[in-house]
Amino acid sequence: MEQAPVVVVGAGIAGVACARELSADGVPVRLVDRGHRIGGRMGAKRLDDRPTDLGASYLTTSDDDFAAVVRDWRSRGLAHEWTDTFTVLAPEAAPGSTTGPMRWGARGGLRSLVEDLAEGLPLEHRAVARVDRDADGRLLVDGEPASSVVLAMPDEQAARLLGPTLRAEVPALEHPSEPIVALVAWWAERTWDHVAPEGRFHGAFVNDDPALSFVADDGRRRGDDAPVLVAHSTPTLAAAHLAEPSGAAPAMLAALQRHLGVPLPLGTHVHRWSLARPIAERPAPYLLTDGGLGVCGDGWGPTAKVETAWRSGRDLGRALAERRGHPAG
Ligand SMILES: Cc1cc2nc3c(=O)[nH]c(=O)nc-3n(C[C@H](O)[C@H](O)[C@H](O)COP(=O)(O)OP(=O)(O)OC[C@H]3O[C@@H](n4cnc5c(N)ncnc54)[C@H](O)[C@@H]3O)c2cc1C
Repeated sequence: MEQAPVVVVGAGIAGVACARELSADGVPVRLVDRGHRIGGRMGAKRLDDRPTDLGASYLTTSDDDFAAVVRDWRSRGLAHEWTDTFTVLAPEAAPGSTTGPMRWGARGGLRSLVEDLAEGLPLEHRAVARVDRDADGRLLVDGEPASSVVLAMPDEQAARLLGPTLRAEVPALEHPSEPIVALVAWWAERTWDHVAPEGRFHGAFVNDDPALSFVADDGRRRGDDAPVLVAHSTPTLAAAHLAEPSGAAPAMLAALQRHLGVPLPLGTHVHRWSLARPIAERPAPYLLTDGGLGVCGDGWGPTAKVETAWRSGRDLGRALAERRGHPAG
C-alpha cells in the first residue's frame, strides 16, 4: 500500500526547508499554505510597480550550511550583498552608524528566495483547520491521513490547529510573539542620504522612539535606488493598533519626518504582522513527538530570524527522514 505522505503545514522558509529535506531523502511530502503566495513573513508586495519587502528586512548568515544556500542564490542572481552598515537614529541625538554582519537582499523580494527553494515541491494553497488523530492512532490533516505532520509556523498558529487528542500529546505551545506594523512610503525623489554619516543611507535602527524601531531603504536594498522607505513600528505601537493598523501610520510618518526630514509621501501602504517575531529564546531546534507531530520555525533555536527558521525546518526534516529509515546523506 502506498505510504501516506508527510504533510508540512506552512510554506514559510522553515516549512519549505523541511519539505525540501524530506523530498531530497525520498520521503513523500505535501506542502500546504493558506497564503495566496508562499513565503510567510518574508512577504513582499508590488507597490508603485515594483516589489517591496514588507516583512523580513534582510538575511544574515552564520551557519555554514545556510551560507551555502545563500551563496547558491547569489550565484544565480537571486540574492545579493546589501550592506553591513546602518544609521543609528535616536530622539535629540545626532545620527550615528553601526557596522555588523553582511545583510543580504533579493531583487525580487525575499519571498522569491522561498519560492526558489520550493521549486518542484507539491504545494497546495489552502488553510488547514484541524490536525488530529483517529481512533486507530493515525494522524489526520483535515480528515486526510498523514504519516507525520509538521506545523511550520509560530506557536499561536500551531496551537490553534491541534485537535483534542493531540493537545494531550504535544507539550504546550506558548512561546509568545510580538506584533509589528510595516509602513511603506514612496516619494518622487530621494532626499534622505545626507542623514547617514557616510552620506549614503541604507537603513536605520531607531532607538528610544515610541513609533519606529527600524527603517529600510527599499531602493538601496533592491538596487534600483527607488525613493521608497519601509518603516517598522515598535511592538507597543503595533499592539495599540492591531484591530485597525492604518491607525499607526500618522505617528510613524511623523517620526519619519522628524528623523529623516522627509516631506509628505506620494503614497503609503500599511501591513500588520500580528505575530511578527517570537520574543524569548527557546534553545530546542524543533519539536518532534514520538507520535510523529513536528513543530518548527523561527521560534526554535537562537534569535528569531530567517536563518534560524531555515535551520529549524531543515533539521526537523532530517530527523523525520532518519526516523523513517531514509538517513540524510
Ligand atoms: C516586520 C518583520 C521584520 C523582520 N525582519 C527580519 C530581518 O531583518 N532579518 C531576519 O532574519 N528575520 C526578520 N524577521 C523574521 C523572519 O521573517 C522570520 O524569522 C521568518 O520569516 C520565519 O519563517 P517561518 O517559516 O518560521 O514562519 P512564517 O514565515 O510565519 O511561515 C508560516 C507559514 O504558515 C502559514 N500558515 C499559518 N497557519 C496556517 C494554516 N492554518 N494553514 C495553512 N498555512 C498556514 C502562513 O501562511 C505562513 O506562510 C522579520 C519579521 C517581520 C514580521
